[in-house]
Amino acid sequence: MRLILFGPPGAGKGTQADFIREKYGVEHISTGDVLREAVKNGTEVGLYAKSFMDKGELVPDEVVTEIIRQKISTLGEAGFMLDGFPRTLEQAKCLEDILTGAGAAIDAVIFLEVPDQEVIQRIIRRQKIEGRQDDTEDLIKNRLRVYKDQTSPLKDFYEGTGVLHAVEGVGEISDIAVRVEGVLKNL
Ligand code: ADP
Repeated sequence: MRLILFGPPGAGKGTQADFIREKYGVEHISTGDVLREAVKNGTEVGLYAKSFMDKGELVPDEVVTEIIRQKISTLGEAGFMLDGFPRTLEQAKCLEDILTGAGAAIDAVIFLEVPDQEVIQRIIRRQKIEGRQDDTEDLIKNRLRVYKDQTSPLKDFYEGTGVLHAVEGVGEISDIAVRVEGVLKNL
């Protein structure tokens, strides 16, 4: 199973990813987590990425695409779910190339739909708990703007390839997991 978890920052992609991993044993690849790890370790990629992340901007396509290319090449048959990637049309096209080269394709894009106001409140709460540095209110607003401008056009792209499934991302976490499950069992 090859999935993409799609939606605005704070949509709950990571939370749903945990359920899916437990149930299906697919690997969870979060570009945000990989980048934060690189920043923490002070690697060359980390130092470069940090300047973009601190502003709520996207890290350049070449950097994240290379991360994904490497991750995917090390995976076995169980499949994967991508969280936070692709975020631009260019990244989506690179992903198609990577998968086509491996004789594979995306089975489903789960689009977690959450209204802006709810997203802002969730991220502010998360900031208090996790202390993530890119979770101040101005940066959140910038991340949402970047999402609207650069990432949300991907909905049309995946609708066009027939793999997009919208799931209401508001309510109890377990109810949302049931909705996601409803999509996955029909694949
Ligand atoms: P969120 O979903 O809360 O916005 P993530 O943890 O997915 O946050 O990502 C945090 C930051 O890492 C982003 O704001 C961006 O700077 C960078 N990043 C993560 N994934 C990508 C990507 N696919 N392309 C470009 N930048 C990315």
